[in-house]
Amino acid sequence: MNPRTIQLHDCKFDTYIYEDEIIARIVMLAEQIDRDYAEKQPLFLGVLNGSFMFVSDLLKRITIPCEISFIRLSSYQDTKSTGKVKEILGLSEEVQNRHVVVLEDIVDTGHTVQGLLQQLKERGPSSVEVATLLLKPECLQHQLDIKYIAKSIPNDFVVGYGLDYNGLGRNLRDIYKIIP
Ligand code: 5GP
Ligand code: MG
Ligand code: MG
Repeated sequence: MNPRTIQLHDCKFDTYIYEDEIIARIVMLAEQIDRDYAEKQPLFLGVLNGSFMFVSDLLKRITIPCEISFIRLSSYQDTKSTGKVKEILGLSEEVQNRHVVVLEDIVDTGHTVQGLLQQLKERGPSSVEVATLLLKPECLQHQLDIKYIAKSIPNDFVVGYGLDYNGLGRNLRDIYKIIP
């Protein structure tokens, strides 16, 4: 545990959630999902770019038969949500009659997940659930039932472990919090 301050573009960030804690929480999520989906052969859909580390670390610990694919949406600029949900890009798997688990980096206002769930449900899946690494409960603007949450955090802008600030920071193995 080495406290560290880093600079990305014009902002400074302090270490906030260390890799060990992230992995410990992901291990618990994986056990839960393994149990819940034992007979269901789920289709995991990672939302790029932010979820790539989460998807990798989570799915290494999933032991049941499953499929893994990635989709892209992207609607976030700087440190404020634009609230616009673009279309699902890159979804080549058949979703109909499948048990889908969406894998997200972070749920903030919930606009993105709300829109994504709407679009996925139009394709007739047997079920859709969301697993997110981070959730900011204070920011949620939709009635969303998010079944799997690794960690809830206050309303602070964070980077690292897949999450970026204008393109930078995704490669960091710990999560950092912006210094206001
Ligand atoms: P929402 O639609 O829930 O408001 O925002 C979801 C998206 O906004 C996330 O997938 C992520 O890309 C971005 N986002 C929300 N909060 C943060 C944050 O604290 N840090 C970073 N890097 N991205 C965030
Ligand atoms: Mg995301
Ligand atoms: Mg981003």
